[in-house]
Amino acid sequence: MEISLEVLTGVFFFIFGTLIGSFLNVVILRHNTGKDLSGRSRCQSCGRTLSPLELVPILSFLYQKGACRVCKSKISIQYPIVEFLTGVLFVLIFFAYNSIPGTVFSLVVISLLIIIATYDFRHRIVPNTFVYGFIGASIFSLFFDVNSLSYTKPSLEALLAGPILALPIWFLWQISNGKWIGLGDAKLFLGVGWFLGISAGVTAFVLSFWIGASVSLFLIFLGRVVSIRKLNLGVKDLTIKNEIPFAPFIILSFFIVYLLEFNLISFIAP
Ligand SMILES: [Zn+2]
Repeated sequence: MEISLEVLTGVFFFIFGTLIGSFLNVVILRHNTGKDLSGRSRCQSCGRTLSPLELVPILSFLYQKGACRVCKSKISIQYPIVEFLTGVLFVLIFFAYNSIPGTVFSLVVISLLIIIATYDFRHRIVPNTFVYGFIGASIFSLFFDVNSLSYTKPSLEALLAGPILALPIWFLWQISNGKWIGLGDAKLFLGVGWFLGISAGVTAFVLSFWIGASVSLFLIFLGRVVSIRKLNLGVKDLTIKNEIPFAPFIILSFFIVYLLEFNLISFIAP
């Protein structure tokens, strides 16, 4: 059997992605806790320093059967999920791009968004540091073509794409006193609009509401309270009355549009 170079590189990107995912987990865990990123990883319960084998992405979780070897406390399933998803997204980026700077830039943006989605899911807050990082990257991509490494002059439409997506969300935030939606979601849409442009941006916008509404209806359908505590994700029970984090839906929609090049506008009016 012959294994092509492309498949091998794909496998490499997956493994590289899971390692970055493992690092992102540390960033998510330590953000806003006053801890920096140096120092060895420890068990969250007993404080024992983890052995190198226990740091291997995904496999260590399976090998330890999801619990600390010593104190037996459960390890959040967030860790292998983030590692796996980062691996998959890195592979998709590899297949979507061919220029090296373009690929590196996309990997950085994807990493920022994984942090934002997971952090919002855990804490119901879009972390400013990372959403500003994403907005900065989006503005950068407006003026600089990372694939050809050259300056580009953005069109007026491209410049307006961010505010056009963010303003309705900002308005909803204003009139509901932050009850319906967070200001962080508006910031996120600012970056999404500038990154994707108006046509793909609107698609991501519509898609995020569709997915968000479908999931919310599903939660109502399942009953008032869906206990996800059993999954040990480290978050409170999701209820429909409780605030449902919206950033994960925005980011999922962004990935669908960006990586799978799904576009509603060209779908409706090709
Ligand atoms: Zn332990």
